[in-house]
Amino acid sequence: MTIPIALVGVGKIARDQHLPTIAASPHFHLAGVVSRHADDLDVPAAATIAALKEQVPDLAAVSLCTPPMGRAALIGEALHLGLHVMVEKPPAATISEAERFAGMARAAGQGLYLTWHSRAASGVEPLRQWLSGKAIRRIAIEWMEDVRVWHPGQEWIWEPGIGVFDPGINALSILTHLLASPAEVREAVLRYPADRAAPIAATLALASDAAAEIAVDFSFDQRGPQTWTIAVETDAGHAMLRDGGGRLFVDDAEVAVPEGTEYGRLYARFAEVVAQGAIDADLAPFRLVADAHLIGRRETVAPFRWND
Ligand code: NAP
Repeated sequence: MTIPIALVGVGKIARDQHLPTIAASPHFHLAGVVSRHADDLDVPAAATIAALKEQVPDLAAVSLCTPPMGRAALIGEALHLGLHVMVEKPPAATISEAERFAGMARAAGQGLYLTWHSRAASGVEPLRQWLSGKAIRRIAIEWMEDVRVWHPGQEWIWEPGIGVFDPGINALSILTHLLASPAEVREAVLRYPADRAAPIAATLALASDAAAEIAVDFSFDQRGPQTWTIAVETDAGHAMLRDGGGRLFVDDAEVAVPEGTEYGRLYARFAEVVAQGAIDADLAPFRLVADAHLIGRRETVAPFRWND
């Protein structure tokens, strides 16, 4: 028996990853969608979670694939209906909002999983194990992609607090998982297009008891090949995650990593969360993004154009 789940918001990531992953999942089956537009899927569709639950009484869980704004209302509605909830990153629009979610789930007695898909990339766990017992001297993160490719025409991506931190938080989710001690933002420079409310690039310096130096370079304006790398220098060799964490190199030689996909692992973890009524709600990456905005110096750069 697989768990009946509904997607809420059928946009780019729902179609690229969630739908195919659920279709192949040994744990879940798609029982419906909550969508304003998706009428091409062969499952019940409704405008609200409550309306879908009326159509599909055995619905047990929802996976939120909407933009981060407005998540508290959706999570509240789902929990009130007795549903377990999985949430795309970033968890919310503000820290205060996201901090409520675990308590809401606990009060409702339902499972909650705030996901970090990059943390589930194949090379991340092997790197974490390789780092065990080593002293980290320096970490250099370069996370550079083209917003036009990954978020075509999405105006919400330029809402305050998002911009380049939408992909950047993926790198920070890996970083905070790798480090044995918390990280702090010490310096930040945020580069805002003259006509946008969110940065298109950012440079951060972080510190942690677990790493002497952490340098971070984010861009949302990368043409040609995309760069998603995390390089780690230790007292006993160096390692690099490439392709967003999908490939791992140790002392320049590629290392075999487990089979499987990021979203396959996320849904496997959500199945555990549902079975246990667990709460998996780590906000560490989100706090770093908020702190970068608190202490970041702002620079203005050229206006952004979707069709440049
Ligand atoms: P998207 O293409 O804009 O899709 C979001 C969907 O949410 C919309 O299609 C819409 O679905 C629904 N929605 C509800 N309220 C909305 C509103 N006020 N504005 C816009 N859409 C609204 O966004 P996405 O790229 O899939 O991103 C969704 C989430 O996944 C974000 O948190 C993002 O960070 C995360 N994510 C995205 C990617 C990526 O490559 N794009 C990768 C990993 C994670 P209906 O039309 O069905 O109502």
